Amino acid sequence: MRLAELGEFGFIEKIARLVGAPQAPVVVGIGDDAAVLKLTGDGYLLLTTDVLVEDVHFRRQWLSPEQIGTRAAGMALSDIAAMGGRPIAAFVSVGLPPTLEVEPAEELMAGLSRTATQYGAVLAGGDTTASSQGIFVDVVILGTTHQPWLRNGAQPGDILMVTGSLGEAGAALALLQAGQVTDASALPEALAKRFANPTPRLAVAEALAARNMVKAAIDISDGLVQDAGHLSQRSGVSITIESARVPISPICRQTAQQLAQDPVQWALTSGEEYELLLAISPEMAEQASQVVTANGEIALTEIGYVTEGERVVVLDESGKPMDVTLGGWDHFGQDPLCGGES
Ligand code: ADP
Ligand code: MG
Repeated sequence: MRLAELGEFGFIEKIARLVGAPQAPVVVGIGDDAAVLKLTGDGYLLLTTDVLVEDVHFRRQWLSPEQIGTRAAGMALSDIAAMGGRPIAAFVSVGLPPTLEVEPAEELMAGLSRTATQYGAVLAGGDTTASSQGIFVDVVILGTTHQPWLRNGAQPGDILMVTGSLGEAGAALALLQAGQVTDASALPEALAKRFANPTPRLAVAEALAARNMVKAAIDISDGLVQDAGHLSQRSGVSITIESARVPISPICRQTAQQLAQDPVQWALTSGEEYELLLAISPEMAEQASQVVTANGEIALTEIGYVTEGERVVVLDESGKPMDVTLGGWDHFGQDPLCGGES
């Protein structure tokens, strides 16, 4: 069987089986947004790694070297936010074609280092090698937390909430693929930001973690429905998403209209949005919303609920279950840069 048939997640499951249960000091191994280690003293250490490969995750025509670095840091930091953590250090391994000019290589590292430092993760090491084909970047982020948010804490009765708005990453990719803009800098501002410089929701994580308000969390890197599926699977619950409640920004709707696309499909399935999907007990929901709103420029919106079972149901505007045609992103299952990335 080829990897394309098994799929990315089927392969990760195989790895998890051959590794077996985590052993101290690892308390959560494969299967969450980051690994959780219990060392001496208070709290936990978090560790996540994310790789970006040229022409799978980015095209050099679409992003400047600095933007590639910024984006690589943002996506790795997002996994620390998804654990309710605070970043403390970064390590970066790069594979670079020897023919690449020094200047863009330096710009890539500068974008990466600046973004990581901005969120508290000073670049503390890495590895450098030649690459026979294109650029690859692997970012490791270390973080800490007093109480990790896991994917397995959702319970029937919980409310499902999402930070910010969804679909902008889909809109940006669609404009680039349609050739309507030639690179990320030419996108409308909000889309350019989402695509080239995604904001890891670390401020939200810090504010909610301090108040013990979150029962389960994941960041949306593969698409809302698919990432809801990961929460559902790990928690052993069903998740219902009310698509009419999913927040979609005006610029996302406008872009969808321009390209004759459905913005709801983008919001449900596009990867690399890097918003947080949270399960929260109903009595905490309003307070959690207020905490997030008070904290900054984004909202926390209720988009669904958790019940007994083991599947994800998406309801359309009239409350009927809908068929979500694109299940989200699978690295082995789709053509690069065609349906989402993570
Ligand atoms: P995320 O999108 O949050 O970065 P992934 O879907 O990439 O998460 O990975 C899911 C889980 O599988 C994570 O816990 C990750 O560490 C683990 N994982 C992915 N690839 C590998 C691998 N090659 N070896 C071990 N663990 C892996
Ligand atoms: Mg993640």
